[in-house]
Amino acid sequence: SEILLEVNGLKKYFPISGGFFGRKQGEIKAVDDVSFFVKRGETLGIVGESGCGKSTTGRLLMRLIEASDGSVIFEDQAITKMSKPELRKIRRDIQMVFQDPYASLNPRHSVEKILEEPLIVHGIGNKEERKRRVKEMLEVVGLSSYHAKRYPHQFSGGQRQRIGIARALMTKPKLIIADEPVSALDVSIQAQVLNLMKDIQKEFQLTYIFIAHDLGVVRQISDRVGVMYLGRLVELADSEELYENPLHPYTKALLSAVPVPDPDLKKETVLIAGDIPSPANPPSGCAFHTRCSERMDICKTTRPADHIVNGHYVSCHLYNG
Ligand code: SF4
Ligand code: MG
Repeated sequence: SEILLEVNGLKKYFPISGGFFGRKQGEIKAVDDVSFFVKRGETLGIVGESGCGKSTTGRLLMRLIEASDGSVIFEDQAITKMSKPELRKIRRDIQMVFQDPYASLNPRHSVEKILEEPLIVHGIGNKEERKRRVKEMLEVVGLSSYHAKRYPHQFSGGQRQRIGIARALMTKPKLIIADEPVSALDVSIQAQVLNLMKDIQKEFQLTYIFIAHDLGVVRQISDRVGVMYLGRLVELADSEELYENPLHPYTKALLSAVPVPDPDLKKETVLIAGDIPSPANPPSGCAFHTRCSERMDICKTTRPADHIVNGHYVSCHLYNG
């Protein structure tokens, strides 16, 4: 089918414990009833400020952490219901790229060993085939077999992220979940890594979920974009549509807060008023109501329903009936 991944009512509540006996004191609703799908071959961007639950969502999809509720369906199989062996198998098809290649690459292992590891874990190929694939993937990401015997500290940040991408490609996955893959890199290097990701996507028919806080970066690579706020998906639309015609007041505020390099555009810069509320004590009703310039009485009491306006998803009372 055209849909590769489907997420329904996904929730992750973390208990907050304290007191003498570590009794449960409440919970953080890190991901609170999130639903979306990802089409085969597309890039779905997920944006939001830090603490909005976007990274937790990424980890839930692969079951690096367990969901409190909801389902994740990959190629018609429920990841959320899989046994450990089934899960191990599906992880060949879904790989992650992390923000910090420094932290995600073992400093004591050579690049060759780092890249071989996923193949060994999944029992793919013999030694010779593994070495051939290491060489092949190093070339795909713009490095060479010459680099195979080197260690992570001998590379620049951008090169290290190329190694992280090569590692993700080793098992020939269908889906790559990239969590802030270029956020730690200089702007000029960011563009190179984004272009590399786009080239690789075409070459290997990959589907991406691209998680980032930077709307400009997300726009460069995404076909559709979802916006998260305090554990909720507040808006999702085709990339063009979202950036040209944002519907949710939070998205509008985020977009107008993006620095504009061309002063001739004279775009208004409106910073979002107020801090992000604590996810341990989220506002009632619409979670954005404490910062929203368009809030109405109903916003404080009632969680907005989902609305689809011309194929554009938004969760906000402004679009009621
Ligand atoms: Fe603003 Fe109300 Fe819409 Fe929330 S539901 S974003 S508070 S207008
Ligand atoms: Mg994060």
